[in-house]
Amino acid sequence: MKKLVTLLALAAVALASHAADYPTKPISIIVPFTAGGPTDRVARDLAEAMRKQLGGVSVVVDNVAGAGSSIGSAKAARATPDGYVLLLNHIGMATMPVLVRNLPFKVESDFEYLGLVNEVPMTLVTKPSLPANNYKELSAWLVQNKGKVNLGNAGVGSASHLCGLLFQNAVQIDMTTVPYKGTAPAMTDLIGGQIDLMCDQTTNTTSQIEAKKVKALAVTTAKRLTTPSLKDLPTLQESGLKDFEVTIWHGLYAPKGTPADVLAKLNTALKAALKDPDFIKKQEGLGAVVVTDKRMEPAEHKKFVLAEIAKWSPIIKAANVYAD
Ligand code: ASP
Repeated sequence: MKKLVTLLALAAVALASHAADYPTKPISIIVPFTAGGPTDRVARDLAEAMRKQLGGVSVVVDNVAGAGSSIGSAKAARATPDGYVLLLNHIGMATMPVLVRNLPFKVESDFEYLGLVNEVPMTLVTKPSLPANNYKELSAWLVQNKGKVNLGNAGVGSASHLCGLLFQNAVQIDMTTVPYKGTAPAMTDLIGGQIDLMCDQTTNTTSQIEAKKVKALAVTTAKRLTTPSLKDLPTLQESGLKDFEVTIWHGLYAPKGTPADVLAKLNTALKAALKDPDFIKKQEGLGAVVVTDKRMEPAEHKKFVLAEIAKWSPIIKAANVYAD
C-alpha cells in the first residue's frame, strides 16, 4: 500500500513538472479530413498562429481522414492526454452522434474542450458545365435529370453530408451521393465534371468560385455574405427553401484527462491566436468569422456543442436523413 502511494505521488510530481515545462516538443493537430480542404485550411492557419504563442514549438497538422471525420476524431480521443495531440473538427462533432450510429467515442465525455475557433458559411456549388445559373434553373435541371444526379460529400457525418441531406430533403429529389475523405478531392472531381454538385465551406470554395472553376448558386446562411466575391450570392432561403440554414463552426479539443495546467496554457495560446490580426485577415478573406469573447472559453465551447447536438438531433430525425 505504501509503495502504491509513493508511486502515485511520483506520477503526480511527474505530471506537474510536465505541465510546467509544456510544451517541449512538437504538438500535432489532427484534422479528420484530407489535406487541402476547408477544415485543413482552418487548422493550418491556426497552427501557425498558435506556434507563435507557444514559444515557437512546431504545431503540425496530421490529416487522419475517413468516415466523415470519425476516424481522426477517434484517434484524438484515444491519444495520450499530454497536450501533444489535439483535434480540430467542425459541426460534425454535433451531427455525428445522430448521423453515425455506433460512433467509437463520446463527443460529450471523451474530450477536453479548448474553445471555439470560427464560423464558416457553406455554398452550393456545381460543376462548371452544369446549365443552371441560379437555384430556380438548378431545380428544373434536377427534375429533368432525376436519377442521374451525383452529389459529392466528405463522408457520413461530415458538413457536406449534412448539408447535402438537408438539400435533398428540401428539394424532394434523391441524388446519388459520392463520398470522399474530404472535400478537397471532391472539389477536384467537381471541377473536372465527374460529380454534379456539392455543398461546401467557403474556406474551400471561395478561390474556386473566384477563378470560375465552379459555379456558385447560393449560400446556406440566413443572411447574404459580405466577402466581396460572394456578396451577390442569394441565400437558399430567399431562393425558396424556407428555413434552410447551415453554418459550420470549428472547435479545438484535447483528449479527456489532459492536465489542467496544460489545458490552461493551450487555451491562453488559442485565445491569443484568435486575436492575431494575420489569422483574422486570412480567415475573413475566405468568408470565415473568427470567434471572440466568451466563445473562446472551454466552458462556452462545450455548452455550445451540447446545444448544437440538441438543435440538430430533432432536425435530422424529422428529415429522416440517417446515414444508415
Ligand atoms: N468540407 C468537408 C466537410 O464536408 C470537410 C473537409 O474536407 O475539410 O465536412
